Amino acid sequence: MEKYDVAIIGGGSAGLAALMELSKLGLQAVVLEGAKPVGSKSVTGGILYSKNYRNAKVYNVEEVYKNFLDDAPVERRITGYYLNAVSENKVYTVDLTDAHNYQTNFAYSVLMVRMNKWFAAQAEEEAQKNGGGIVSGVHVSDIVWENSKTIVQTDELEPIQVNAVVAADGVNSEAALMTGARKKFDVEALYQGVKSVIRLPEDIIDERYGLKEGEGVAHLFAGDISRGHNGGGFIYTNKETLSVGLVYHLDSLIKSPIEPYTLLDSFLTIPQVSNYIKDEVPFVKEFDRDLPKEEQLRMKFGISKLLKSWEELRYTYYSKTARRKAIESRLYKSEEELRHRLDETRKELEEKFRVSFVTNYVELEYSAKLVPDGKRALMDKPYKNNVLFVGDAAGRGVFVGTRIEGINIGIDDAARAARAIARAKEHNDYSEEYMGRYYGELINESPYTDDIRKIDFEYLKIFVNACKEIPTESLNLFLRLGFMLLQKATVQDFARAITKMLDQRTLLALIETNEAYVKIPMEVAEKIGRTVNPDYKIKPPSIDERIAKIRINDDPEPHIKILDPNSRFIKSMVQLCPTKCYIMEILDKERFKSEVVLQHEGCIECGTCSKETDWKHPKGEKGVTYEYG
Ligand SMILES: Cc1cc2nc3c(=O)[nH]c(=O)nc-3n(C[C@H](O)[C@H](O)[C@H](O)COP(=O)(O)OP(=O)(O)OC[C@H]3O[C@@H](n4cnc5c(N)ncnc54)[C@H](O)[C@@H]3O)c2cc1C
Ligand code: SF4
Repeated sequence: MEKYDVAIIGGGSAGLAALMELSKLGLQAVVLEGAKPVGSKSVTGGILYSKNYRNAKVYNVEEVYKNFLDDAPVERRITGYYLNAVSENKVYTVDLTDAHNYQTNFAYSVLMVRMNKWFAAQAEEEAQKNGGGIVSGVHVSDIVWENSKTIVQTDELEPIQVNAVVAADGVNSEAALMTGARKKFDVEALYQGVKSVIRLPEDIIDERYGLKEGEGVAHLFAGDISRGHNGGGFIYTNKETLSVGLVYHLDSLIKSPIEPYTLLDSFLTIPQVSNYIKDEVPFVKEFDRDLPKEEQLRMKFGISKLLKSWEELRYTYYSKTARRKAIESRLYKSEEELRHRLDETRKELEEKFRVSFVTNYVELEYSAKLVPDGKRALMDKPYKNNVLFVGDAAGRGVFVGTRIEGINIGIDDAARAARAIARAKEHNDYSEEYMGRYYGELINESPYTDDIRKIDFEYLKIFVNACKEIPTESLNLFLRLGFMLLQKATVQDFARAITKMLDQRTLLALIETNEAYVKIPMEVAEKIGRTVNPDYKIKPPSIDERIAKIRINDDPEPHIKILDPNSRFIKSMVQLCPTKCYIMEILDKERFKSEVVLQHEGCIECGTCSKETDWKHPKGEKGVTYEYG
């Protein structure tokens, strides 16, 4: 039997950080990951943070990966952070950059799959020094304890013997259920995130969002953004793409089910968003059906070849780096020549092939994933026997209104787990009482744990100050009182004392309401917003077109089994599954009898249906492989 000091289940950002830190501490560790390539099942919004807390230590990404700042494939440094209150064709924008910069060293937009690939390369290099590494394409099926040995079983490999396990297997952690460390998260403790990666040339992003080279912004949205459901939207600028999506309370969706892609489409098509994502997109007219078949084929080939060169020329022309490189390598003599070639190619498309150019947008990838709401999902005891839980698997994330943080917290957890395991190795004691409890202490010392549980008064003050133009009569009584207390210098000590007493859970019922998500932002936009009136309508792809683009290697054996096809929850999945895996099958037309059936082909492992199903990740290499994530 193969032996390692540690098995890490899951190679997302948290699991890979655990591998890096354990390896640096001299332990022999192995990541066991279902996805191939490793990290390609992760989805984020996403902004990766490095934080500073004056009185407490944080293990930031640049500390875990020493060459992060020089070498990591980050997208843009976030230099502006805005909240947009939206109503019909009006928008009021609050500048939250100061609130965002609070306790932040830096924040970069990232595409999770690319980022994970880089994390994996660094961590694997370090792990190999101790004989450890990464095995991708394997699904961990069980952890068993036999005669004081810990055995990790997979669907693909011989069992592996280890001294400790790090469970970094994400929001739908099977390790949590295998070990009995926790039950499945309640739907009230989860959000469903749905996202689209949109292509847009670099210079157009810079110009549209008012950015200098390398700078980036985040725009959050609330109000009339998608049919009155409780949640928010986001646009993050990447180098040559945008990450655009929505994060919604799962329980509010279950109460009033609606397809995630319908919500996404509603969001993408409101003028306040379509203005930010629109592009010039070629539209190929249908061929004359009377043309001979060979002629049609010849035309098709000609168009796709020319479209490809037009696209390449355009992305080179509108990217500072690509433009510079193309000229330095003498591919083009000058910028003017490049422009000329671009114009000529476009003209040829228009004149020879009757291609027209319309206002629309280019969607590269559609994805969805559950997000644990740290306030409700946080595991009080993130360990069981010799298994330590980190990141989403432990329900750890700051998701409070405008603060969205999960990646940085998983990395910090992983560094703490590594320290607890290294200490256990030194004392040859991997027991729950020794190693687990020490990990629990380290996690409680993490400033993130406080951040997840408590309201940060200083952050709130900066936030409220940014909102000072908002007419207070738009707020409900509770918020009005809160704003007043936070703004008045004379009662600050009183306000600070109150916020210290209240934890997030106490305040949720007051803050996370339809009023706060939808009604108040709409009223604010109506009262003081500016008008946005585009004269075009963008058209999102159909869900079938979206699914057709995702790489899914279906397992003929279902990895999800419905427990009760007649439960209200399962019925709601007919709408809530982001890739339409659930359908209502008519059993008896005359008696109006029908039943929910699951077609697991096309499952993107978002986890939405997990609460009332026997839910497992697919076997190794099977299932979804994202390109961006
Ligand atoms: C829409 C959206 C927006 C977000 N925005 C932000 C943001 O802006 N900033 C931020 O910091 N966070 C954000 N988050 C949260 C953040 O993305 C997550 O907290 C983070 O990616 C979780 O990392 P992880 O490593 O814990 O889990 P994951 O990335 O989910 O990794 C878990 C891994 O475990 C593997 N696995 C699971 N079970 C098994 C098994 N049995 N055997 C083998 N492998 C297994 C999976 O294949 C997967 O690769 C967002 C999330 C979403 C969905
Ligand atoms: S079947 Fe797959 S994609 Fe559909 S809700 Fe369940 S986990 Fe998500």
